[in-house]
Order: sequence, then C-alpha cells, then structure tokens
Amino acid sequence: ILLTRMNGTLSTIYALSSGQGKCGVAVVRVSGSAAIEALRKMTNLTNPEPRRAFLRKIFDPVTRDVIDKGLCLWFPGPTSFTGEDSVEFQVHGGSAILQAIMSALGKLKFRPAEPGEFTKRAFYNGKLDLTEIEGLADLIHAETEQQRKQALLQADGNLKKLYNNWKAILSKSLAHIEAYIDFSEDDNLEGNILTITNQTIKDLISMISKHLADGRKGEILRVGVRTAIIGRPNVGKSSLMNYLVQRNAVIVTPIAGTTRDVVELNANICGYPVILADTAGLAERTQDIVEIEGIRRAKGYAKHADLIILMIDASSFVASQLDFPEYLKNYINQLEMSEIISADNGLSRNCVIVVNKTDLIEEEVKKELRKIEAVSISCTTEEGFGELMESLEKKFQTICGNPSREDPTISQARHRTHLTNCVEYLEKYLEMSSREKYDMVIAAQQIRNAMRELGKITGDISTEEILDIIFTSFCIGK
Ligand code: GDP
Ligand code: ZN
Repeated sequence: ILLTRMNGTLSTIYALSSGQGKCGVAVVRVSGSAAIEALRKMTNLTNPEPRRAFLRKIFDPVTRDVIDKGLCLWFPGPTSFTGEDSVEFQVHGGSAILQAIMSALGKLKFRPAEPGEFTKRAFYNGKLDLTEIEGLADLIHAETEQQRKQALLQADGNLKKLYNNWKAILSKSLAHIEAYIDFSEDDNLEGNILTITNQTIKDLISMISKHLADGRKGEILRVGVRTAIIGRPNVGKSSLMNYLVQRNAVIVTPIAGTTRDVVELNANICGYPVILADTAGLAERTQDIVEIEGIRRAKGYAKHADLIILMIDASSFVASQLDFPEYLKNYINQLEMSEIISADNGLSRNCVIVVNKTDLIEEEVKKELRKIEAVSISCTTEEGFGELMESLEKKFQTICGNPSREDPTISQARHRTHLTNCVEYLEKYLEMSSREKYDMVIAAQQIRNAMRELGKITGDISTEEILDIIFTSFCIGK
C-alpha cells in the first residue's frame, strides 16, 4: 500500500455499500483520485458542489445508455470518509441496475473494492485509528441495543482519546527523563524532576490497571454473555430456554434426560446479547453413558459461563419440608455444583436462582419463597416472568456494564494484551530507576516500549497481520 501510495497510483475503487438483495435504494461508492470521472462520464456533472445531492440520469460512459435516475454526491478529499476524492450514487436497488452501474464503473478502469478497503484507506489517510475502526466494525455487526451503544462510543473515539492521552503522558515523561539524563550534574533540581516523573508513571500504572480490571465487561458485551441454565432433570430448563429465545427451539417433555448435550442459542434479553445454553439435567444416579457425558459437559460449560441460571422445581422443595436456604444448599451439593456456585456465604459468582412451577404450589409457600433472593416463576402460566426479566437485566448490567454511563471499557483481547505489556514495561522502568546504580538510558527505553504498546492498540505501529484481521471483518463496500 505504501509503495503504491508513493507512486501516486493507488487505484480508484468501487463497491455496492448497501445490503445485498432487492431493495428500494442502493448505495454505490467510488473512492480514489479518479473518482470525479464517475460523475463527469456517467452524469455530465462537471463541477459539483461538495456533499450535495444532485438528481441526475446516470448512464454508461461508453454506450451512453441511461441506466437509472438517481442521486449523485461528490465528497472531495481530504474531508471525505476515506480521505480521498469520493463519489456516491444512490440508485434503485434492482439487480440489473446494480450490474449495469458496476459494469459502467469497470469501463472507467476502476476496480472493485476488497472487503474493508474503504475503511483501510481511511486508516492510512489518518481519518480513523484502529480502535475507531474496530468500533465501526462492531457497530455494523451490533445486534442488540447495548452492543450498539458500546460500538458507537468506540467508533466515536472514546478509546482513542483515552489511549492517546496516556501516550501523551508518557511522551512528556520521556522528555523529562531525557532532560534528566542530559543535565544530571545539577542533582538537586533534576532529581526533583525524576521524582515527579516517577510519580506520574505510578499514577498511570494505576489508571491502566483499573482499566484492565474491568471484569472483561466490554469484551463480554461484544461477544455475548454466556449463560448456562442448570438444574435437576425436569425442573423446566428447556421450557425457560424456549421462553427466553421466544420460540420452540428445544424439546420439552416430561421425560427426564431429554436434553443430553449443551444446546447454545443466541438471544437478545433487555438489549444485552446472550448466548444461552440449555444443558442436560444434573441427575444424581444414572447409568446412561450418554447422560453421564451430558452431565460432564453441562458442568464444564457452567464452570466457564459468565452467568448461571440455577433452576429449582418448587414442588420438590415443598416435598423436602426443609427451609429454603437449607434446601438450596443441599440442592447445590447434590448437583455437585458447590465448587462452581458456593452456597456457604452467599453465591460466589454471577448466578440467578429461579424457582419454577409455582403453579403447582400453595399460596402460603409462594409467600415463603418471596423471603429469599430467588425469582419464582411458572413456565406454564408465565407468572413471575416480569420479575425474572428485571433480575436478569440487572445481572447483565453488572456483567457487561452500561456503556453510555461508564468509562470506556476494553472491547477486544488485543487491547488487553498490549495494555498488560504496557504496564509491565512501566513497572520495569520503576524497578530500574529505584536501583542504587542504574543506567537511565536503558530505563528510559522501557518507557518507549510502553508507548509502543499503546501505539499498537491505536495503530501508530501496526503489522499487516493485525490490519488484515481487522479489515477482513468488514463486508465489501465498507
Ligand atoms: P428440563 O428437563 O429441565 O429441560 O424440563 P422441561 O422444560 O423439559 O420440562 C419438564 C416438564 O415439566 C415438561 O413436561 C414441562 O411441560 C413441565 N413444566 C415446565 N415448566 C412447568 C411449570 O412452570 N409448571 C408446570 N406445571 N409444569 C412445567
Ligand atoms: Zn431439557
């Protein structure tokens, strides 16, 4: 890319930027130094006002055949999305029209864009940094309200601002350290500068560490909250699953052991993306090899889940004649889940306790159930579902955070890796500079390394490999 840019021969590209398939209006984008030719040769517009829509007949530059009548827009660089001269056609979305437009653009010696190529050019022209690009990709893929909010903030530069600010702090510190190296004879004055600088580094370490200790909120929101529905056979796990995904996705029968493998389905619950897993009932005694394997998988899944929905059959609680906390403790022990959900001093991890089949119990018992922190529902009558949704929403909020109200969170494992490295370099710097005898030049190198790690996140320093991974997650036309 850099070579072709130096030669000034970066080709002009085009693509359909709106969705595939028949639609009312389709958007075709053209970007590159020759983009204006598309307007001249296909619409006779010669000196269009920038960013204004012109309704024109659009024709084939060679045959002069009219293809369609549509809106034409001119976005001169560098203020366009890509930073290059760009043209946009908004035409009717029929496939014959689009084929004809594409063929017309081909005749102008433009070439079809690769996936993410418009955005790639925007990146190389300094219009967006990598975190904004990732935000943009997430925005396009966002399926729930909260994902959309997080992606929009990131595309708008909230992570970029944060990381650039940290880079600026480091570069100022580095300047101070270099001054110290140059003038270290004047001990009193410069020694003071070093103390102040080291305090700045310490403060930065704690800021980055706090940012790292976010419980992976942003990452979980980006990919979905892995939620396992766990419980004895026949308590109503599959019934709840079907309700939460809003369709009859899994088989519900009165026969225990119907669900044998982990079944994962995506759901949008209160704006949060949820990967819901229905699991095999945790039976205590079974000889069935398939069921034993199913139970092993259910437990394995629960161990790594972000949230567990622990289901209980209200009628078996009644039959037990225990008080509820006692019953719950026994239940968790019998399921051999006590390591995963500790019931001793409250629940040790994200877990919602759901007591199902309240239609089968007396009003008196229902009152009893309301005394403890569990949600009582009936999958048959849908009683208690409002309350269930509220408590799930609260849990998802703690797990994923609230992107519009809280500080920006890390959304990709890639960010986490570089931030962790950054902190390590800074700690190494502090460690070196606290030694009796040390080489300040080598210590300063650690600050440079730390800055490089931040630069890798925002893309000041990037390898083709990282860029390829990011840009191929875009569709063609973006
Ligand atoms: P799973 O084995 O835990 O997945 O339980 P299922 O969802 O397959 O349900 C087991 C049986 O309990 C089925 O016959 C369901 O119709 C029944 N069931 C589920 N929820 C309720 C409920 O709230 N009330 C009553 N009375 N029966 C239910
Ligand atoms: Zn089931």
